[in-house]
Amino acid sequence: MRHETEPKTLQSAIVYFANPDNCLNYLVERRWPEGVTCPTCGSDAVTFMPKRRIWQCKARHPKAQFSVKVGTIFEDSAIGLDKWLCAMWMLANCKNGVSSWEIHRSIGVTQKSAWFMLQRLRLALQDDDTGGQLSGHVEVDETYIGGKARNMHRTALARRVAEFATPRTGRNQTTGKVAVMGLLERHGEVRTMVVAGTKRQHLHSQVTKHIETGSHVYTDALRSYNNLADEYTHKVINHAERYVDGNVHTNSIENFWSCLKRTIGGTYISVEPFHLFRYLDEQSFRFNNRKANDAYRFDLAVSQIVGKRLTYAEVTGKDKDARKLSC
Ligand SMILES: [Zn+2]
Repeated sequence: MRHETEPKTLQSAIVYFANPDNCLNYLVERRWPEGVTCPTCGSDAVTFMPKRRIWQCKARHPKAQFSVKVGTIFEDSAIGLDKWLCAMWMLANCKNGVSSWEIHRSIGVTQKSAWFMLQRLRLALQDDDTGGQLSGHVEVDETYIGGKARNMHRTALARRVAEFATPRTGRNQTTGKVAVMGLLERHGEVRTMVVAGTKRQHLHSQVTKHIETGSHVYTDALRSYNNLADEYTHKVINHAERYVDGNVHTNSIENFWSCLKRTIGGTYISVEPFHLFRYLDEQSFRFNNRKANDAYRFDLAVSQIVGKRLTYAEVTGKDKDARKLSC
């Protein structure tokens, strides 16, 4: 499906997508490989109007005229596809992510627009959970993400504790942080999610949902993982004693956590707990496609833009109902 002339590097992507016809053809071939159909009624009786680069559906219904953006994460956006696609290239391929300030400076949109663009692009990177269960040798671990409580403003800390974070204090200093769980199939895919806590009831159901019965499961000595042996070959590494015992370790997922923390701490500086899951999706996307090249990762990301929408109210959480849904 890929053409020789299509870009392989960021530099060639910038040049290539500066031409609006290239943007259009690139998206049309991936979105409608069997021919353009109306996003509203599904009919293929549509006429292209080249001057405006839109289609007219022959059926009589609202939104009978549509652009390639309709029904995708780009819907209702006034920002050109040239900018959208370059931002997508950067997000899909920059190992440690790309901040809204970098997008703002690189492609010439306001920082606020860039931030909103990135949140929509992250939605495209989100895994749609169709990959089936993980199997073989799977490492399971949990970590905490968030600013150190003592560096945080008092009101910000109070809000964070009240809304999302585990209100625990003491030994682990987890006040104000958000618990994140990760499941990583060795030499395969990682899945991550924000969890309400690290007690058994928070973690066990995710293990049974995402890991095939009978697989080998590796965890640390956290008591929440007791009883996994009923369904899995469960091996525990007690980090108080050692970190590796033969093939019993959680090094792969620990490595993923350190990359994630480098991205969040280094590039994004601070992430609101409400938005954290989008950053997890982003990092997991790059990790899960780490063996592919930049052009492939970009292609894959573009193929996932359809059927997804995110309004400003949803993304900022200002719409209370939307906020509940996406959490
Ligand atoms: Zn139609």
